[in-house]
Amino acid sequence: MSKLLEQLKAGKVLLGDGAMGTLLQKLGLAGGHCPEEWNISHRQEVLSIISGYVTAGSDIVETNSFGGTRFKLQHYEMADKVGHFNRAAAEIAREAAGPGGLVAGSVGPTGQMLEPLGTVSEQELLEAYKEQIAALADGGADAICIETMSAIEEAILALQAAKEVTQLPVIVTFTFDKTRKGDYRTMMGVSPARVATELTAAGADVVGSNCGNGPENMVAISKELRDNTDGFIMIQPNAGVPVLEDSKTLFKATPDELAECVVHLVDNGVNIIGGCCGTTPDHIAAMRKKLDEYK
Ligand code: ZN
Repeated sequence: MSKLLEQLKAGKVLLGDGAMGTLLQKLGLAGGHCPEEWNISHRQEVLSIISGYVTAGSDIVETNSFGGTRFKLQHYEMADKVGHFNRAAAEIAREAAGPGGLVAGSVGPTGQMLEPLGTVSEQELLEAYKEQIAALADGGADAICIETMSAIEEAILALQAAKEVTQLPVIVTFTFDKTRKGDYRTMMGVSPARVATELTAAGADVVGSNCGNGPENMVAISKELRDNTDGFIMIQPNAGVPVLEDSKTLFKATPDELAECVVHLVDNGVNIIGGCCGTTPDHIAAMRKKLDEYK
């Protein structure tokens, strides 16, 4: 059995890591530049970010490969670098995690809409995901984390791709917004209940939510997920709701504020807890402390 599923089945609650993108920008990644290219040109910087999370107490860290499909890389005319960038992404995270740590290969949406709404066929999406995921596995990932999804069809294709090219466990997480009625839906109108039911049925090893919400909303989302699946759940909130200041997006929840939600998430039956946009090693360290105290 995989190391990840072994630990989850033993009842261990695992701590994920925090943001990658916001920290890359802090280290000098300029707008309009390709984050995945940094796995080659700025290997030390990427390694230092992930190592920071390992030091803060993450049990499972993610690769710098969120935009690593050919559909995303083609914006930088780097569609031919999928294998190169994703393999390097996994190797860097593997090095940071060490032999005992777990590496999840990050896979984000392609930004494409399926036919007939968009121009891309199911086969093209499937092939694009297979290409990326095979390289992440080749570089040493222990699991695949398909994240920030909003369309059920695309998420299931990515899951199917992972199951075709690897034997690794697959995590699939969606991003929800709170509606005026007070419930939660993705951009494509998908509820947490539907994600839990349909992705579990499609064979996802872990389902969940990342990004889009601060800790409070994620507690409610985790409840709806848990009410609709007996499988494992992963939750990665942002550091609060984004605030726009001087045309910059800021996430202001403090490490202690984020750590507050850990107890509630564990009580709701969440199995992996981490952070998304705006979270730092300080947030993860505070969550580590809370998680260890609560056990
Ligand atoms: Zn995020």
